[in-house]
Amino acid sequence: KLFNDLLAVKGNIRVFCRVRPQFEHEGPTVTDFPDDFLIRVNTSSFGVDVGSIQKKEFEFDRVYGPHVGQGEFFQDVQPFVQSALDGYNACIFAYGQSGSGKTHTMEGSTSDRGVFFRAFEELFDLSNSEMTPTSRFIFSVSMCELNNEVRDLLHNSIRSSGSVQMGFNGKFVELSLERVENPTDFSRIYKIGVQNRSKDGPNRAHLLITIHIHYANNFTGEEQYSKLSMVDMVASDRLSKEEATGDRLTELLHINKSFSALGDVLSALTAKKDYVPYANSKLTQTLADSIGGDAKTLLIVNLCPCHTDVQETLASLHFAARAR
Ligand code: ADP
Ligand code: MG
Repeated sequence: KLFNDLLAVKGNIRVFCRVRPQFEHEGPTVTDFPDDFLIRVNTSSFGVDVGSIQKKEFEFDRVYGPHVGQGEFFQDVQPFVQSALDGYNACIFAYGQSGSGKTHTMEGSTSDRGVFFRAFEELFDLSNSEMTPTSRFIFSVSMCELNNEVRDLLHNSIRSSGSVQMGFNGKFVELSLERVENPTDFSRIYKIGVQNRSKDGPNRAHLLITIHIHYANNFTGEEQYSKLSMVDMVASDRLSKEEATGDRLTELLHINKSFSALGDVLSALTAKKDYVPYANSKLTQTLADSIGGDAKTLLIVNLCPCHTDVQETLASLHFAARAR
């Protein structure tokens, strides 16, 4: 129902913007430069106003200031999770410069869990309340690092519940699937996946976690498959090609391509274009059936509040603005 409130008005893409708190050691606070740069978060009109020098205003579906905690933030993510349980594919991206709070938002900490864990717990709770004596939900998880190459992060997991293909147009990625029975299980599998990340993984590839949802009703014969994909993206800081050579340069070019491909896909969908260029990157190709159509997509743009980050902040806001 909440989902309808959020999605009734327009298409199936939503953009949320979240500004993290400023830390003590981060030098000049925004109040030292009251007339210079500061991010003003205006939640009543769901807009971000980025200060007086570069008078620019951006509007998003939701905007979260530094004091919004994980629980409150998740309330607005919940409809996407609900939707996945209802049979729609859903996809949640965390985008932003390094240190802006992507991992905090998606993973969080043990005492302050982020979207990954809250989403599974929500699916689990909702499925328990919706199950009947003849119907059941089965959850499995796949996890990979994704740039131009895809690295399966659950290849050595415990139960090994088969595999799944993700992609479109004959271009598929095959990933190990792990059955997950409860939230504790989910945390354990997640840990295994994280341990399998490559050295320097977060700077080299997006982290993609997908919860595959099978529903079966033995009485009516009804069956349903849907999935919830969640991505902690590589930092979007404008990558300096000048300093990179060889493999690192190739890697950077692929990372840049995945950002522009995602931007192109989202803006094509928002503009209701006939042609959506999913094939331009591994990321958009792999998630093609979870972006567009009747799938629900959420782009979370994480921002730093600091004076010194103005350029990156503006770049992130411009990226976000293209999607809506
Ligand atoms: P990213 O993954 O985008 O590089 P992180 O999530 O690692 O950034 O965040 C950088 C630091 O800021 C971490 O120490 C994190 O705990 C902290 N942080 C980020 N967002 C918040 C927030 N909303 N509230 C409190 N601390 C945050
Ligand atoms: Mg991170």
